[in-house]
Amino acid sequence: MAERPYIVGNWKMNGSRTTLSEARAIDRGAQRTMKVEVALAPPYTLIHAVSREAGQIGVGAQDCHPGEEGAHTGDIAASMIADSGAKFVILGHSERRQDHAEQAELINAKIASALEAGLRIILCCGETLETRDAGQAEQFVLDQLRASLPKIDDAGERLSVAYEPIWAIGTGRTATTKDIAAMHKAIRGLIDETYGPDQSPDVRILYGGSVKPENAGEILATEEVGGALVGGASLTAESFLGIVVAA
Ligand code: PGA
Repeated sequence: MAERPYIVGNWKMNGSRTTLSEARAIDRGAQRTMKVEVALAPPYTLIHAVSREAGQIGVGAQDCHPGEEGAHTGDIAASMIADSGAKFVILGHSERRQDHAEQAELINAKIASALEAGLRIILCCGETLETRDAGQAEQFVLDQLRASLPKIDDAGERLSVAYEPIWAIGTGRTATTKDIAAMHKAIRGLIDETYGPDQSPDVRILYGGSVKPENAGEILATEEVGGALVGGASLTAESFLGIVVAA
């Protein structure tokens, strides 16, 4: 297992210049807990400022265009994201799969483009409540990953996977640690198979879905949980650092 837990804040469509003070406070707090790798994915509009003003934490984007720079109004290429100071990109998030009908083919093109631009990837997966209730969560999540895990030989450095059950995102509901452990174990099995014993241990599997300071300790102590992808609770330094400290 990778040694340092990876705690990543996903600001989603939140944040303005005034919120930069939170990023700076997160950066200062993260410097006091070197045992944890802390990162933040602000909206595109703040990537450059956060990477300049919060120099110790990793800064990333929440999406990228699958192609190169060119005539695509309103889109942002992976190379531009890297140029703005980002080091990673979150891809395949359930909100993108739902709101923008993103499927594996598009997600894979984005992954290829991001890797080409030198970015690390956080690849998200997760099932709906309907799928879980039908007893098909594991199969669904593994199929989702099988369709998108990139064929690279430095996965340990470039790739993290985030398991985020859709019914636990922004709902205040978290999966039980038993459910999390079972799913992460299944994901680890697939990562072992895909990347082999040299790379697999360094591919961290993050959990996401209503992680907050109060439940982070328990979730992060769960087997095969290598960190957390945090939405709502990453918006203020106080709650996000509460999670970092719990890690
Ligand atoms: P949440 O979001 O922590 O607000 O549930 C997590 C995510 O969607 O990455």
